Amino acid sequence: MQKDSFRKFKKLLNNSQTIAIVTHYSPDGDAIGSSLALYLFLLKLGKKVHVIVPNDYPEFLHWMPGHQKVLNFQDNEAKAAKILLSAELIFTLDFNSYKRLEKLGTIIEKTEAKKILIDHHQQPDQFADLYFHDVAACSTCELIFDFIVGLGEKKLIDKKIAACIYTGIMTDTGSFRYPSVSSRTHLIISELMKTGIVPSDIHGAVYDNYSIDRLKLLGFALNEKLNLVEGLPVAYFSLNEKELARFNYQKGDIEGLVNYPFSVKGIKVCALFNETEDYVKISFRSKGTIDMNQFARNHFNGGGHINAAGGRSDENLAATEKKFRELVKTLF
Ligand code: 5GP
Ligand code: MN
Repeated sequence: MQKDSFRKFKKLLNNSQTIAIVTHYSPDGDAIGSSLALYLFLLKLGKKVHVIVPNDYPEFLHWMPGHQKVLNFQDNEAKAAKILLSAELIFTLDFNSYKRLEKLGTIIEKTEAKKILIDHHQQPDQFADLYFHDVAACSTCELIFDFIVGLGEKKLIDKKIAACIYTGIMTDTGSFRYPSVSSRTHLIISELMKTGIVPSDIHGAVYDNYSIDRLKLLGFALNEKLNLVEGLPVAYFSLNEKELARFNYQKGDIEGLVNYPFSVKGIKVCALFNETEDYVKISFRSKGTIDMNQFARNHFNGGGHINAAGGRSDENLAATEKKFRELVKTLF
């Protein structure tokens, strides 16, 4: 845990009028939820605020309040750079290394703005001026709630901000089922519900808004693409570009797929390899104390949490799978 004092956060906020918020490449519910919650909150404090994402995010997050205002770096790099280079303060949310921003990271590195990191991933790089970091938090959204409360501004958490925070907590905890969920998580949800948010509507907006193609892709993957590693409690999927294209793959369509093999008795490690134009994107998941953050860092140029991490490989799909099948033995 690395947390600076609220006296310092308040001082920096008081001295900053123009603020930018950035989050990681391929933003998920927690990345967008935390960014938009903080954005809406800072607007209420009278700040001039921009949210910048390194690339697009799935359609099932487009309903979120503030979505229309998000600037996609890939759509207008010059505008994003101008905002970042003139910002007095930059919040970096839900990531802990500039590597996670891809090309946007090279611009942030050049900015003179003060930085506040709010995040819950393992082993943060030391690039920020102030930290609100806790690996015990279930999500960055949980930390955003604590951050607002810590500033003494809980009264500013309205229904829109609450919906954003709820979404990030829900998506990062697999709908409140991962070990990262604490009694505090539920107390926060209780507080959020007092603003009038309707959890069932949020679950519906995120999880019941996919295409029929996505459901069929899921069926195909489960039926034909599930691999087991002999003698180990390990299962993984690998999907190539052609297979994804067959099902009209859209961003977000394979989110959650990696977890399905856990429903099989005994499975302790799951992985998903998906081929993209440039590299093989990898997701790792584990049960208990098996450390996927370290595994991803050591072997697949990635990182994350103990039970959920990601990485990438510049080798082809078959070579990446082979490497994984060998290395995964070291986890047992
Ligand atoms: P996912 O498998 O859902 O993409 O990511 C699982 C977790 O690992 C998330 O918390 C995500 O932020 C992190 N993660 C995913 N890909 C990478 C990566 O390439 N590098 C690092 N450091 N973390 C990653
Ligand atoms: Mn997160």
